[in-house]
Amino acid sequence: MQVIKTIREIREAVYTARQAGKTVALVPTMGALHEGHGHLIERARRESETVVVSIFVNPLQFGPGEDYGRYPRTLDSDLDFCQSLDVDLIFCPDPPELYPQGQKTFVEVDEIPRELCGRSRPGHFRGVATVVLKLLNIVQPDRAYFGEKDAQQLRVIEQMTADLNVPVEIVAVPTVREPDGLAISSRNRYLSPDQRQSATVLYRALNAAHQALCAGERESVKVLAASQAVLDQDPIVRKEYLEVVDAGSMSPVTTVNGPVRIAGAVWIEKTRLIDNLYWKGE
Ligand code: AMP
Repeated sequence: MQVIKTIREIREAVYTARQAGKTVALVPTMGALHEGHGHLIERARRESETVVVSIFVNPLQFGPGEDYGRYPRTLDSDLDFCQSLDVDLIFCPDPPELYPQGQKTFVEVDEIPRELCGRSRPGHFRGVATVVLKLLNIVQPDRAYFGEKDAQQLRVIEQMTADLNVPVEIVAVPTVREPDGLAISSRNRYLSPDQRQSATVLYRALNAAHQALCAGERESVKVLAASQAVLDQDPIVRKEYLEVVDAGSMSPVTTVNGPVRIAGAVWIEKTRLIDNLYWKGE
Protein backbone atom coordinates (compact mmCIF):
# COMPACT_ATOMS: atom_id res chain seq x y z
CA MET A 1 0.00 0.00 0.00
CA GLN A 2 1.34 3.40 -1.01
CA VAL A 3 0.51 6.50 1.05
CA ILE A 4 0.53 9.62 -1.10
CA LYS A 5 0.12 13.28 -0.18
CA THR A 6 0.57 15.09 -3.49
CA ILE A 7 -1.60 15.37 -6.60
CA ARG A 8 1.40 14.74 -8.84
CA GLU A 9 2.25 11.43 -7.16
CA ILE A 10 -1.31 10.09 -7.01
CA ARG A 11 -1.74 10.91 -10.70
CA GLU A 12 1.51 9.04 -11.45
CA ALA A 13 0.48 6.00 -9.37
CA VAL A 14 -2.94 5.81 -11.03
CA TYR A 15 -1.31 6.27 -14.45
CA THR A 16 0.98 3.30 -13.72
CA ALA A 17 -2.03 1.15 -12.75
CA ARG A 18 -3.86 2.21 -15.90
CA GLN A 19 -0.82 1.42 -18.08
CA ALA A 20 -0.94 -2.10 -16.60
CA GLY A 21 -4.57 -2.32 -17.78
CA LYS A 22 -6.08 -2.14 -14.30
CA THR A 23 -9.49 -0.69 -13.43
CA VAL A 24 -9.52 1.95 -10.69
CA ALA A 25 -11.98 2.53 -7.82
CA LEU A 26 -12.08 5.58 -5.55
CA VAL A 27 -13.55 5.61 -2.03
CA PRO A 28 -13.63 9.23 -0.80
CA THR A 29 -13.62 9.60 3.01
CA MET A 30 -12.81 12.08 5.74
CA GLY A 31 -10.93 9.41 7.72
CA ALA A 32 -11.74 8.20 11.25
CA LEU A 33 -12.49 5.03 9.36
CA HIS A 34 -15.01 2.49 10.63
CA GLU A 35 -17.01 -0.53 9.51
CA GLY A 36 -19.23 1.67 7.32
CA HIS A 37 -16.23 2.84 5.31
CA GLY A 38 -15.05 -0.78 5.42
CA HIS A 39 -18.08 -1.93 3.43
CA LEU A 40 -17.39 0.68 0.73
CA ILE A 41 -13.76 -0.41 0.52
CA GLU A 42 -14.61 -4.13 0.43
CA ARG A 43 -17.11 -3.56 -2.35
CA ALA A 44 -14.54 -1.50 -4.28
CA ARG A 45 -11.96 -4.26 -3.71
CA ARG A 46 -14.31 -6.88 -5.21
CA GLU A 47 -15.18 -4.76 -8.24
CA SER A 48 -11.90 -3.11 -9.25
CA GLU A 49 -8.23 -4.01 -9.57
CA THR A 50 -6.81 -0.85 -8.01
CA VAL A 51 -8.48 0.61 -4.92
CA VAL A 52 -7.76 4.23 -3.96
CA VAL A 53 -9.03 5.56 -0.62
CA SER A 54 -8.87 9.32 -0.15
CA ILE A 55 -8.68 10.68 3.39
CA PHE A 56 -9.31 14.40 3.55
CA VAL A 57 -11.22 16.47 6.09
CA ASN A 58 -12.57 19.01 3.63
CA PRO A 59 -12.67 22.51 5.15
CA LEU A 60 -14.96 23.71 2.35
CA GLN A 61 -17.90 21.62 3.54
CA PHE A 62 -17.86 22.80 7.18
CA GLY A 63 -19.68 25.98 8.17
CA PRO A 64 -18.56 28.48 10.82
CA GLY A 65 -19.04 26.97 14.29
CA GLU A 66 -19.20 23.40 12.95
CA ASP A 67 -16.80 20.63 14.03
CA TYR A 68 -13.99 21.07 11.43
CA GLY A 69 -11.41 21.72 14.16
CA ARG A 70 -12.41 18.83 16.41
CA TYR A 71 -13.33 16.33 13.67
CA PRO A 72 -11.46 13.10 14.60
CA ARG A 73 -8.16 12.69 12.74
CA THR A 74 -6.79 9.17 13.20
CA LEU A 75 -4.46 8.69 10.23
CA ASP A 76 -2.26 5.95 11.75
CA SER A 77 -5.14 3.64 12.59
CA ASP A 78 -6.86 4.53 9.29
CA LEU A 79 -3.76 3.34 7.43
CA ASP A 80 -3.73 0.05 9.39
CA PHE A 81 -7.44 -0.41 8.62
CA CYS A 82 -6.87 0.20 4.89
CA GLN A 83 -3.88 -2.13 4.87
CA SER A 84 -6.03 -4.89 6.40
CA LEU A 85 -8.56 -4.40 3.58
CA ASP A 86 -5.89 -4.64 0.89
CA VAL A 87 -6.18 -1.03 -0.32
CA ASP A 88 -3.59 -0.14 -2.98
CA LEU A 89 -3.30 3.65 -2.71
CA ILE A 90 -4.11 6.16 0.02
CA PHE A 91 -4.44 9.78 -1.05
CA CYS A 92 -4.26 11.98 2.06
CA PRO A 93 -3.36 15.52 0.96
CA ASP A 94 -3.02 18.43 3.38
CA PRO A 95 -5.55 21.23 2.73
CA PRO A 96 -3.06 23.51 0.86
CA GLU A 97 -2.44 20.72 -1.66
CA LEU A 98 -6.11 20.75 -2.73
CA TYR A 99 -6.73 24.47 -2.08
CA PRO A 100 -3.36 26.14 -2.77
CA GLN A 101 -4.34 29.78 -3.32
CA GLY A 102 -7.97 29.74 -2.37
CA GLN A 103 -10.73 28.33 -4.49
CA LYS A 104 -12.73 30.53 -6.80
CA THR A 105 -14.66 27.84 -8.65
CA PHE A 106 -17.45 25.90 -6.96
CA VAL A 107 -19.93 23.24 -7.99
CA GLU A 108 -23.50 24.20 -7.16
CA VAL A 109 -26.16 21.51 -7.68
CA ASP A 110 -29.72 22.84 -7.90
CA GLU A 111 -32.78 21.62 -5.93
CA ILE A 112 -31.37 18.50 -4.21
CA PRO A 113 -29.43 20.41 -1.49
CA ARG A 114 -32.36 22.69 -0.62
CA GLU A 115 -34.00 20.74 2.22
CA LEU A 116 -32.82 18.38 5.00
CA CYS A 117 -29.11 18.97 5.80
CA GLY A 118 -28.86 21.74 3.20
CA ARG A 119 -31.27 23.88 5.23
CA SER A 120 -29.15 24.02 8.36
CA ARG A 121 -25.77 23.72 6.63
CA PRO A 122 -25.70 26.40 3.90
CA GLY A 123 -22.77 25.83 1.55
CA HIS A 124 -22.21 22.28 2.81
CA PHE A 125 -23.19 20.50 -0.39
CA ARG A 126 -21.37 23.07 -2.51
CA GLY A 127 -18.25 22.13 -0.54
CA VAL A 128 -18.95 18.42 -0.94
CA ALA A 129 -19.66 18.61 -4.69
CA THR A 130 -16.58 20.76 -5.27
CA VAL A 131 -14.15 18.49 -3.43
CA VAL A 132 -15.64 15.33 -4.95
CA LEU A 133 -15.31 16.74 -8.47
CA LYS A 134 -11.69 17.69 -7.70
CA LEU A 135 -10.97 14.17 -6.40
CA LEU A 136 -12.65 12.61 -9.44
CA ASN A 137 -10.57 14.83 -11.74
CA ILE A 138 -7.38 13.99 -9.89
CA VAL A 139 -7.86 10.22 -9.63
CA GLN A 140 -10.09 9.67 -12.69
CA PRO A 141 -11.53 6.39 -11.35
CA ASP A 142 -13.85 4.05 -13.25
CA ARG A 143 -16.08 3.82 -10.17
CA ALA A 144 -16.54 5.85 -7.00
CA TYR A 145 -18.25 4.53 -3.88
CA PHE A 146 -20.61 6.44 -1.58
CA GLY A 147 -22.81 5.43 1.37
CA GLU A 148 -26.59 5.64 1.46
CA LYS A 149 -26.18 6.81 5.04
CA ASP A 150 -25.57 10.25 3.51
CA ALA A 151 -28.41 9.92 1.01
CA GLN A 152 -28.67 13.60 0.15
CA GLN A 153 -24.92 13.72 -0.50
CA LEU A 154 -25.21 10.63 -2.70
CA ARG A 155 -27.97 12.27 -4.77
CA VAL A 156 -25.94 15.49 -5.08
CA ILE A 157 -23.00 13.50 -6.44
CA GLU A 158 -25.11 11.37 -8.77
CA GLN A 159 -26.69 14.52 -10.19
CA MET A 160 -23.40 16.42 -10.45
CA THR A 161 -21.59 13.61 -12.28
CA ALA A 162 -24.54 13.09 -14.66
CA ASP A 163 -25.03 16.82 -15.37
CA LEU A 164 -21.31 17.48 -15.91
CA ASN A 165 -20.71 14.26 -17.90
CA VAL A 166 -18.04 13.03 -15.51
CA PRO A 167 -16.98 9.60 -16.84
CA VAL A 168 -17.42 7.66 -13.61
CA GLU A 169 -19.90 5.13 -12.27
CA ILE A 170 -21.28 6.14 -8.88
CA VAL A 171 -21.90 3.08 -6.69
CA ALA A 172 -24.31 3.40 -3.73
CA VAL A 173 -23.58 1.20 -0.71
CA PRO A 174 -26.28 0.43 1.92
CA THR A 175 -25.96 1.89 5.41
CA VAL A 176 -23.97 -0.20 7.86
CA ARG A 177 -25.43 -0.26 11.37
CA GLU A 178 -24.48 -1.28 14.88
CA PRO A 179 -26.41 -4.34 16.16
CA ASP A 180 -28.91 -2.00 17.88
CA GLY A 181 -29.61 -0.14 14.64
CA LEU A 182 -27.49 3.00 15.12
CA ALA A 183 -25.92 3.97 11.79
CA ILE A 184 -22.14 3.78 12.19
CA SER A 185 -20.58 7.25 11.94
CA SER A 186 -17.25 8.90 12.72
CA ARG A 187 -19.24 11.31 14.88
CA ASN A 188 -20.56 8.51 17.14
CA ARG A 189 -17.25 8.71 18.99
CA TYR A 190 -18.31 12.12 20.35
CA LEU A 191 -21.09 10.38 22.34
CA SER A 192 -20.80 9.52 26.05
CA PRO A 193 -22.07 6.02 27.01
CA ASP A 194 -25.46 7.47 28.05
CA GLN A 195 -25.75 9.52 24.88
CA ARG A 196 -24.78 6.47 22.84
CA GLN A 197 -27.76 4.63 24.39
CA SER A 198 -30.08 7.50 23.48
CA ALA A 199 -28.73 7.72 19.93
CA THR A 200 -30.62 4.58 18.85
CA VAL A 201 -33.85 6.57 19.11
CA LEU A 202 -33.24 8.06 15.64
CA TYR A 203 -33.19 4.65 13.96
CA ARG A 204 -36.19 3.52 15.99
CA ALA A 205 -38.08 6.67 14.97
CA LEU A 206 -37.30 6.15 11.27
CA ASN A 207 -38.31 2.53 11.62
CA ALA A 208 -41.68 3.52 13.09
CA ALA A 209 -42.31 5.64 9.99
CA HIS A 210 -41.19 2.78 7.75
CA GLN A 211 -43.61 0.46 9.51
CA ALA A 212 -46.43 2.96 9.03
CA LEU A 213 -45.66 2.94 5.29
CA CYS A 214 -45.58 -0.86 5.28
CA ALA A 215 -48.97 -0.86 7.02
CA GLY A 216 -50.42 1.21 4.18
CA GLU A 217 -50.24 4.80 5.52
CA ARG A 218 -49.52 7.25 2.67
CA GLU A 219 -49.96 10.68 4.29
CA SER A 220 -46.53 12.01 5.28
CA VAL A 221 -47.97 13.87 8.28
CA LYS A 222 -49.24 10.61 9.74
CA VAL A 223 -46.12 8.67 8.80
CA LEU A 224 -44.03 11.28 10.58
CA ALA A 225 -46.32 11.36 13.61
CA ALA A 226 -45.36 7.72 14.19
CA SER A 227 -41.67 8.77 14.16
CA GLN A 228 -42.19 11.79 16.36
CA ALA A 229 -43.91 9.67 19.00
CA VAL A 230 -40.74 7.58 19.28
CA LEU A 231 -38.43 10.63 19.34
CA ASP A 232 -40.53 12.15 22.12
CA GLN A 233 -39.62 9.20 24.34
CA ASP A 234 -36.11 10.57 24.82
CA PRO A 235 -35.93 14.18 26.04
CA ILE A 236 -32.13 14.48 25.59
CA VAL A 237 -32.53 14.05 21.83
CA ARG A 238 -33.42 17.26 19.98
CA LYS A 239 -34.93 16.99 16.52
CA GLU A 240 -33.46 19.07 13.69
CA TYR A 241 -35.65 17.58 10.97
CA LEU A 242 -37.73 14.54 10.22
CA GLU A 243 -39.10 14.36 6.67
CA VAL A 244 -40.49 12.07 4.04
CA VAL A 245 -38.75 13.08 0.82
CA ASP A 246 -38.86 12.01 -2.81
CA ALA A 247 -35.89 9.65 -3.27
CA GLY A 248 -34.77 11.48 -6.42
CA SER A 249 -35.26 15.20 -5.72
CA MET A 250 -34.94 14.89 -1.92
CA SER A 251 -37.88 17.31 -1.60
CA PRO A 252 -40.60 16.62 1.00
CA VAL A 253 -43.78 14.95 -0.26
CA THR A 254 -47.23 15.25 1.30
CA THR A 255 -48.49 11.96 -0.08
CA VAL A 256 -46.31 8.94 -0.72
CA ASN A 257 -46.84 7.53 -4.18
CA GLY A 258 -43.33 6.53 -5.29
CA PRO A 259 -39.87 5.82 -3.87
CA VAL A 260 -39.11 7.96 -0.82
CA ARG A 261 -36.63 8.28 1.98
CA ILE A 262 -37.60 8.91 5.56
CA ALA A 263 -34.75 11.16 6.67
CA GLY A 264 -33.91 12.53 10.09
CA ALA A 265 -31.28 14.62 11.86
CA VAL A 266 -31.06 14.94 15.63
CA TRP A 267 -28.80 16.63 18.12
CA ILE A 268 -27.58 15.04 21.31
CA GLU A 269 -25.97 17.98 23.06
CA LYS A 270 -23.23 19.10 20.63
CA THR A 271 -23.35 15.97 18.44
CA ARG A 272 -25.41 15.94 15.27
CA LEU A 273 -26.52 12.56 13.90
CA ILE A 274 -28.28 11.83 10.60
CA ASP A 275 -29.90 8.71 9.22
CA ASN A 276 -32.50 7.66 6.67
CA LEU A 277 -34.47 4.66 5.45
CA TYR A 278 -35.52 3.95 1.89
CA TRP A 279 -39.06 2.97 0.93
CA LYS A 280 -39.33 1.70 -2.61
CA GLY A 281 -43.05 2.48 -3.06
CA GLU A 282 -45.54 -0.11 -4.31
P1 AMP B 1 -17.24 10.31 5.68
O1 AMP B 1 -15.86 9.88 6.01
O2 AMP B 1 -18.16 10.36 6.88
O3 AMP B 1 -17.31 11.53 4.82
O4 AMP B 1 -17.86 9.14 4.82
C1 AMP B 1 -17.20 8.67 3.66
C2 AMP B 1 -18.15 7.77 2.91
O5 AMP B 1 -18.53 6.66 3.75
C3 AMP B 1 -19.46 8.47 2.50
O6 AMP B 1 -19.82 8.05 1.20
C4 AMP B 1 -20.43 7.99 3.54
O7 AMP B 1 -21.77 7.99 3.09
C5 AMP B 1 -19.94 6.57 3.78
N1 AMP B 1 -20.40 6.08 5.07
C6 AMP B 1 -20.19 6.65 6.28
N2 AMP B 1 -20.80 5.93 7.25
C7 AMP B 1 -21.42 4.89 6.62
C8 AMP B 1 -22.22 3.79 7.06
N3 AMP B 1 -22.54 3.62 8.34
N4 AMP B 1 -22.68 2.93 6.14
C9 AMP B 1 -22.39 3.09 4.83
N5 AMP B 1 -21.62 4.09 4.35
C10 AMP B 1 -21.15 4.99 5.23
